[in-house]
Amino acid sequence: MIDYHIHTNISADCKVPVRLMAQAARDAGLKEVGFSEHIDLGVPVGPDFTVDFAAYEAAFEQTRREFPELNMRRGIEAGLDLRYKDEIAALLNAHPCDFVIGSLHLVFGHDPYYKDIWQQYSKREIYDEYMRLSLETARSCDYYDILGHLGYIGKFCPFEDKMLRYDEYADAVDELLKTLIERGKALEVNTGGLCMTPSTMPETAIIRRYYELGGELLTVGSDAHYESAVGHAVAETLDGLKSIGFRYVCAFDSRKPQHIKIP
Ligand SMILES: [Zn+2]
Ligand SMILES: [Zn+2]
Repeated sequence: MIDYHIHTNISADCKVPVRLMAQAARDAGLKEVGFSEHIDLGVPVGPDFTVDFAAYEAAFEQTRREFPELNMRRGIEAGLDLRYKDEIAALLNAHPCDFVIGSLHLVFGHDPYYKDIWQQYSKREIYDEYMRLSLETARSCDYYDILGHLGYIGKFCPFEDKMLRYDEYADAVDELLKTLIERGKALEVNTGGLCMTPSTMPETAIIRRYYELGGELLTVGSDAHYESAVGHAVAETLDGLKSIGFRYVCAFDSRKPQHIKIP
């Protein structure tokens, strides 16, 4: 079992040390884990999402020695943001890691985690803009290997129907998935929304469409920010991927995808 989206106290919004997250992964029966620490420049509110690379490397290496049975990879979750595209690319070049999840966290300059965006814009405006930005950043940014949590806004949407639905955005989603396939970028299946939304991000219809279009690079991640979330719902999600037709998910080593057979 594998979990390729785990945060630790190297991320500004997580308090749990690398060691304890690794221990939780081992206890959950995981064999392969990817840590994905936040870099988001220019966020309007909340903590400063930068990474202390020296501290990250030190904690990671120390933990790797303690858990030799766990295959650990050092990754980054970098905000997809055209304003900071060159700065983020330079940071990642200066500090090589195993994989980079590119995640869109801001819509109209707001993090949908906070209430203000939902008060200032209609749901339709927010979802339209999220989809437009997802496509624009997936095309224009080149510093990521994996597109993170497509449909992220649904996690915080205060309305009943939360999911970013394939039916509603079929053309734009198709364009986005084709862009990822052409560019050799992976698609993440994120289980972190499952406590708030009825499906993974993206929803199953989008994952199925990715398969139909010939997509072969998938990662699975819990987006854990605390120990009990490590590996959450990964087993069921892998079963679901298998029933769509996928035989492999991806791990990454030095930014190169490796296929791992779904058990
Ligand atoms: Zn994220
Ligand atoms: Zn995350």
